Amino acid sequence: MEGGKLIIFSAPSGSGKTTIVRHLLEQPELNLAFSVSVTSRPQRKEEEDGKHYYFISVPEFKKHIKEDAFLEWEEVYRDNFYGTLKSEVERLWAEGKNVIFDIDVVGGLRIKKKFPEKTLAVFVKPPSVDELKIRLKKRSTESEDKINMRVAKASVEMATAPQFDKVIKNYDLDTALEEAHQMVADFVGANCEDQ
Ligand code: 5GP
Repeated sequence: MEGGKLIIFSAPSGSGKTTIVRHLLEQPELNLAFSVSVTSRPQRKEEEDGKHYYFISVPEFKKHIKEDAFLEWEEVYRDNFYGTLKSEVERLWAEGKNVIFDIDVVGGLRIKKKFPEKTLAVFVKPPSVDELKIRLKKRSTESEDKINMRVAKASVEMATAPQFDKVIKNYDLDTALEEAHQMVADFVGANCEDQ
């Protein structure tokens, strides 16, 4: 596998990384394309298959694992598998794009280890675990149980921040967006002065 650069945004669920990734995808000079992951978790109302994720069953996911189709995969929550297909990254590289990922901390660090030179791994830090819980409740895409599961995992995830190339504190969204834009522009060699 070879090609463009890899930009990873990892963070506990609810830290705002998806908002940051979406913002970066709108900046043409960064030449980014989103790596659509495969997941076995249920599709949410507002999500589109093939755009937000490729939604598949647990047995299908396990078949992909057996076939060594994943660059990385993780059972992020129980029975909720998530993974990055090698074919997805190859497809985007073939289009001449830099690939951007919204994935969990373990998957993010795994990709960084595989491609240390061409990867920028960014950790998005929420103000606190309490604030994270408030954000997840506001988002109301998950049940109370699932929110608690995500919050419990967040403390463990926060401890991995020092292993990333960069940390963005998402205390104020506009500042975080600007910081992320500059960081990625520097890494891919794009000029974002006039943006
Ligand atoms: P959600 O269910 O909220 O969409 O995602 C849950 C977590 O799984 C998030 O931290 C998200 O970034 C992560 N995730 C999404 N796709 C992948 C993937 O392909 N690999 C890994 N390791 N994590 C992923």
